[in-house]
Amino acid sequence: MKETMRCVVIPEPHKFEVREVPVPELQNEDEVLIQMKSAGVCGSDHHIYHGLNPCSTYPRIPGHENAGVIAKVGANVKNVKVGDHVIVDLIHTCGTCYQCKIGRKNVCEHVSVRGSGADGGWREYFTAPASEVYKIDDSVDWKDAALVEPYAIGAHCTARARIVPDDTVFILGTGTIGSIILQTCKAKGCKTVICCDIDDASLERAKAYGADYVINSKTEDVLLRISEITEGHGVTVAFDSACFPGSLTMCMQPGILCNAGRMVPMGFSTAKEEITQAMINQRELDVIGSRMSCYQFEPTIERMEKKAFNTEGIATMFIPFSQIEKVFYYMDHPCAESKKMVILFDE
Ligand SMILES: [Zn+2]
Ligand SMILES: [Zn+2]
Repeated sequence: MKETMRCVVIPEPHKFEVREVPVPELQNEDEVLIQMKSAGVCGSDHHIYHGLNPCSTYPRIPGHENAGVIAKVGANVKNVKVGDHVIVDLIHTCGTCYQCKIGRKNVCEHVSVRGSGADGGWREYFTAPASEVYKIDDSVDWKDAALVEPYAIGAHCTARARIVPDDTVFILGTGTIGSIILQTCKAKGCKTVICCDIDDASLERAKAYGADYVINSKTEDVLLRISEITEGHGVTVAFDSACFPGSLTMCMQPGILCNAGRMVPMGFSTAKEEITQAMINQRELDVIGSRMSCYQFEPTIERMEKKAFNTEGIATMFIPFSQIEKVFYYMDHPCAESKKMVILFDE
């Protein structure tokens, strides 16, 4: 095995470096060494690079959507062996706090997130506790393996929203996460999923993923269309995966969510919103937070192995790790094709 490897570091916002560093050693006998094979580039990576992520510190190795091969195992490791394909969890938790004990480890008091608060996977090798990697079948393409983490987010937020087949769902924003929420709601049997965006091409893609109705909020009156589609009742659940200043207020205005509806904001925007107590209590709405995912990697891997997701068109650009500067170029110069990039590590 090689003694040194390449790793990508963001020393401070708007800068990146590729460094040649030693391949890390196992810290203890419960750890594994992972050789990276693919890594998704997420909206939060753009925020880390641009200094807009409130949870990130610097210098930082980005990357939380990590897939690779086990290259070394500690003596105590039983769940995986050398050569296994794995997905690496993005969170490291304490296991003893109130939140960990009630099954909400994604919001552990001491949570450390790979790729933002701790170093992530944009490097050829890294180590992790064996309990934080999950085996994935060799039949899953590395391009798809990098998408397990965002699909786990879809599983988590739809579980938080208590989605059932009878729900009428509104999704604001049809980017990567909006598209994945759409696919997940359809997989859970929702008969009516309404997607809203300002980009016709993105709405066309949503139709291909099963959207029953699409609304272009640039050219159409959202309230009017929702009233028509739901015969004046409103939707039962709304997801805000657009996350622009004011988007949450827009989703919560009367006429979109029905009485007893559920609102799930997906973003980390720090912009002030104009939400009143009356907006929540006149309809007795539930506003439900959803952060990353919790115990969803294993079920999501199983679905990925069964080819249950339509991953076609979710990632829009594949970039070799040897050309990592392109990832940063497209973060500075975003275009439709660079909406969701996946880094593929060289052999
Ligand atoms: Zn992500
Ligand atoms: Zn904890």
